Amino acid sequence: MTNNSEQLTLRHLFEAKRRIQSLMKKSPLKKSHHLSERLDANVYVKMEMTNEIGAFKLRGAANKMLALTEMEKKRGITTFSTGNHGLAIAFLAGVLGIRAVICISNRVPNAKVDSLKRLGAEVKVIGESQDDAENECQRLKEQEGLTVIPPFDDPYVIAGQGTIALELMEDLPSIDQVVIPLSGGGLLSGIGLGLKEVDPSIGVKAVSIEGASAMEKSLQAGKPVAVPEKTTLADSLLGGIGQTNRYTLPLVKKYMDELVLVNEEEIAEGMRFLLTKEKIIAEGAAATGISALLKDADSVKGQTIAVILTGNNVAPDVLASLLSEG
Ligand SMILES: *Cc1c(COP(=O)(O)O)cnc(C)c1O
Repeated sequence: MTNNSEQLTLRHLFEAKRRIQSLMKKSPLKKSHHLSERLDANVYVKMEMTNEIGAFKLRGAANKMLALTEMEKKRGITTFSTGNHGLAIAFLAGVLGIRAVICISNRVPNAKVDSLKRLGAEVKVIGESQDDAENECQRLKEQEGLTVIPPFDDPYVIAGQGTIALELMEDLPSIDQVVIPLSGGGLLSGIGLGLKEVDPSIGVKAVSIEGASAMEKSLQAGKPVAVPEKTTLADSLLGGIGQTNRYTLPLVKKYMDELVLVNEEEIAEGMRFLLTKEKIIAEGAAATGISALLKDADSVKGQTIAVILTGNNVAPDVLASLLSEG
């Protein structure tokens, strides 16, 4: 594949689809009758939590890992991650028989650390932020010859996440707009490419955490900017975009039409809506698309919309307190 984001095309998405098809099924697209009624629109949810590890990250990781050379597979892989990417790598390492070392920050919830170990990965807890974990990966690469599998800033990872767009076009060709949780931007880059290269009039709405969106600040600055991390229900949206970002910053800039920022109460509201109305368990990051729609209901009137529900890795006590507060 190309090293130049300008050259990432629909062809790479179709290649990714073919490469990963033995490892995963198409995720369901469900109509949300409650949201459709509430927003006076046709609203569908893309159920990415039905993937093996409970999140879409399996797509990009699988596309990248299956494309490694035999030598690279033998030496092993490493990654830094706030959780779901690490889970995907750990799961795939088990399935494909590859050694995986996962570097994470001490902010990652314990439940996620336990799952990583259970899947058979080596876990290294290092530093306060995703950037510290990234540095450790770099060291493993240089000193031990492991291949780094980045969580978002990689053409194979982006193309893997972009297979969601191919499924959306098959299942909902009348789509007017997609709503995508945004952190490092691998998901948005892939889906944005997939939909806009088919029809540039399809709207791409991104959602990030208010006060903790590195992508928002980086777009404003025109270069990667770090933001402090914070405690949030949407922990899967934390993290920087990487100081050496090459792909997702330009691709998000190219394909994103609008960025909505949501606060903690709005994230909780989105999770609660999915739980109580649709009986869907979504983690905070995954519910942000719903939060954004509930916040600005009039903006989507009459449209056909797909909201990407990105994952369901949330601790039971978080769900319990959401319900009791609501
Ligand atoms: C990784 C992740 C995101 C954001 O994806 P990016 O490619 O980093 O923008 C959103 N939701 C969940 C559940 C995730 O794990």
